[in-house]
Amino acid sequence: MLSLWRIAQLLPQYAPRVVQIAAISLASAALAAGTPYLYKFMVDIVSRMPAGDVSAAVALDEFGLWLVLFALVKSAHVALVTIQGNISTRLLFDSLSSLREKILDKMNLLGIDYYERTHVGDIMDRWDNGVSVISWWVNALCNGALTNILQVFFIIAVLCSKFPPIGSAITAVMAFALYDSYRSLVEARPFHRGWSRHRGLMSGLMAEFLSHIATVRSFSGEAVIRDRYLESQAIWRDLREKAHQVTVSANLRRNAINTLAVFGATSFVSWAALHGRYNPGDILLVLILTESLTGTIAPISALIGQIGEAEAAAERLLELLRAEAGIVDPPDAKTLTSVDTIAFDRVSFTYPGKRAPALENVSFFLAKSQSLALAGPSGAGKSTIIKLLLRFYDANAGRILINGEDIRHFSQVSVRSLFGVVLQEAALFNDTVAGNIAFARQGAGIDAVRAAARKAYAHEFIERLPQGYETLVGERGVRLSGGEKQRISIARAVLKDPQLIILDEATSALDSESEQLVQSGLRDLMQGRTSLVIAHRLSTIANADIIAVMREGKIVETGRHDALIASPDGLYARLHALQSGKQSDVIADGFFESRGINRRAPDA
Ligand code: ATP
Repeated sequence: MLSLWRIAQLLPQYAPRVVQIAAISLASAALAAGTPYLYKFMVDIVSRMPAGDVSAAVALDEFGLWLVLFALVKSAHVALVTIQGNISTRLLFDSLSSLREKILDKMNLLGIDYYERTHVGDIMDRWDNGVSVISWWVNALCNGALTNILQVFFIIAVLCSKFPPIGSAITAVMAFALYDSYRSLVEARPFHRGWSRHRGLMSGLMAEFLSHIATVRSFSGEAVIRDRYLESQAIWRDLREKAHQVTVSANLRRNAINTLAVFGATSFVSWAALHGRYNPGDILLVLILTESLTGTIAPISALIGQIGEAEAAAERLLELLRAEAGIVDPPDAKTLTSVDTIAFDRVSFTYPGKRAPALENVSFFLAKSQSLALAGPSGAGKSTIIKLLLRFYDANAGRILINGEDIRHFSQVSVRSLFGVVLQEAALFNDTVAGNIAFARQGAGIDAVRAAARKAYAHEFIERLPQGYETLVGERGVRLSGGEKQRISIARAVLKDPQLIILDEATSALDSESEQLVQSGLRDLMQGRTSLVIAHRLSTIANADIIAVMREGKIVETGRHDALIASPDGLYARLHALQSGKQSDVIADGFFESRGINRRAPDA
């Protein structure tokens, strides 16, 4: 309950509507609990007539009066229920939208590392199922159950004032039912938590399976995925069953106790009436009140039964909402409007949860319109430099300076807005070609999109697509080839017209023909702009103004291509030799070097 309350506290703007609903529920419950009194008065009048206590004319007048009052009360009740339904439904839609908006805003604040360690499916489960379960519960509460709960109090109050023995017995029964519900809630809580977590796990597996469907198929991995899913599902089912059993037996107990209470109360009042202590109207009053008590208990029971599930969903949602935000801008963050120089000043960085640093004392300087290429073996730390520049992470030591000022003084959005990024895997959305290009600049017209596509050497192939620029590219662009996807992502970067270009292995996944076209697009894009390029294929960075060669998180060599290959013992020269076909020599060098033998010594 505490978690649900905390979620409610996140939406204080709806408090007035909740108060309205509570007031209407109160009035509606009072009317519902008071209506049996009208039945009693009418029955009392009719039962007094045969005894001659009241004349037919007077009885008819009184009866008519009660009848009119009954009609008024019933109409008022129906009106209240309708108004309550409307307010509750609107409250449900609005609060759901606000809650989802809150989660989305939170997700935008979460650091990249959160997404790197959390399953997409698990986040979707918290977002979608979690919100749905909570909303079902809140809707049930506002749309009737609250009235029922208040009605129980009114009925007990009427019974206590008019029939004290029955009232006290029913109060005791209700108190026990409440205690029993609480106990079963505590008993079922670990099961609810467990199966909710497993549902997230299953969603995670499913999301992973779907996004890697081609890999799964090509490795005939369907059985592995199936086994993993079924294993998780079996645990989920078992925990759900256990939670369900606790709820079912609690409901059974509650219903049995209630039936006994109604039976006891009716027997008592009938027995008392036979002994002249109550009149026929009283029997009817007790019968209807206790009967409506059982009627109200059923939806309340259902609500109690679902508390565990709603609570578990609320806990998971709160975990997401309370997850530590990634990098937060300082309150006085400046807006970066142009990039003149970029400098890394003895930057060191270790990924969260890792021991070995990904970057150690990295320093470089990049002036306006210059190009810096990062080369080096896999895992050397090249992409990490880009992640720090894009503020996905902050350095643990040292400073990153833009125009001589610490990057942390600028708002992240303003920094990123000046960068255009083209990655190895072109990230396309399930939208049209034009929509994917225009993603870079909201509101860009089709002419601007076409112009960008031309500069990226993409226009011709786009025109040949079935619906041209309006062709849907499929999820992650599955309906396009690697080269086509990459040219669309370059067109996107062209349209953004950024001051600084970042290319991370932008051509490494392409065949020679596609690479030629993509390279041409990239050359045009980089023209006159500051650029930072990562490429394994060293031929593509031969013209860079500065090449920084990295190994194990450090920059071990810097210089221009010609100077670097002129130093034969250097890492760059060795990598270059490997790529230009002198592999055997280099491998042999490595072999002798690792054994401390200077193979070249005799020639020297
Ligand atoms: P490649 O050329 O293969 O892309 P790289 O030079 O770009 O490699 P980085 O991706 O920067 O290398 O990785 C540097 C080191 O940091 C590696 O040891 C890698 O395992 C580690 N690393 C990279 N990303 C993460 C991450 N998200 N969490 C933890 N460690 C990471």
